[in-house]
Amino acid sequence: MTENDLEVVFSAGQLSERIAELGAEISRDYRGEELIAVCVLRGSFVFAADLFRSLDADLRIDFLEVTRYGDKDVPDEELRVISDVSHDVRGKHVLLVEDIVDEGNTLWAVKRMLEGRNPASLKICALFDKPARRRKPVRADYVGFTIEDRFVIGFGMDYKQKYRNIPYLAAVKKR
Ligand code: IMP
Ligand code: MG
Repeated sequence: MTENDLEVVFSAGQLSERIAELGAEISRDYRGEELIAVCVLRGSFVFAADLFRSLDADLRIDFLEVTRYGDKDVPDEELRVISDVSHDVRGKHVLLVEDIVDEGNTLWAVKRMLEGRNPASLKICALFDKPARRRKPVRADYVGFTIEDRFVIGFGMDYKQKYRNIPYLAAVKKR
């Protein structure tokens, strides 16, 4: 695949403008509170790096690596935790930062797991939302862009672990 096979869905400039707006909104909502922001690896590392730097908040940063893929025998409400958060989230305000909500299975399971630890609050910020494919009743409290049902890559998101470094959101052109 070369750059000629890719279509720009959102440019780097469009993404950074929207992320700054999300950052301002989240900063307002958590004014005066301590916040633990959790980057859900791996897809959200690029978004999270930009979002966190746009937050004016009393912020701690944490990471959670999960996967639903790779083991076809695991029912989809069970996810595999590769690396857990390092903070004790009990009684804390927690913001989950995700790249994209698609079927919703990943977020639904992550949310349930963290809610079981009794945080003071748990909200979700997703850069992209693909509501057309939703299978689980989960919605993000903050959404960057709602997009149509097509596979996207870049800005942290992969196809078979490649293309995460493309600095904009791309879709593969139909031939
Ligand atoms: P869900 O459990 O179906 O909502 O899947 C969510 C995860 O799958 C996201 O956090 C992404 O890592 C990945 N994903 C979903 N849609 C896409 C896509 O269009 N491109 C790349 N990764 C995706
Ligand atoms: Mg993800």
